[in-house]
Amino acid sequence: MKINRELCDVCGTCVSVCPVDAIIVSEFKVDIDNMKCINCLNCLKVCPIKAITEDK
Ligand code: SF4
Ligand code: SF4
Repeated sequence: MKINRELCDVCGTCVSVCPVDAIIVSEFKVDIDNMKCINCLNCLKVCPIKAITEDK
């Protein structure tokens, strides 16, 4: 999963739907740990501005 930082406004919505805690939010940005990610696509589906894509 990849987050488009130009679009992401760090709303935090994606963080709460990740079953493996692969999404790390800090004050200014959100990161996805692709080593932990199981490609469930939850984050991609809930992002209100479609800032997450399946790219690595
Ligand atoms: S695809 Fe699923 S496992 Fe991967 S970061 Fe998104 S919510 Fe977490
Ligand atoms: S849901 Fe989308 S906009 Fe919100 S923090 Fe996650 S990637 Fe960014």
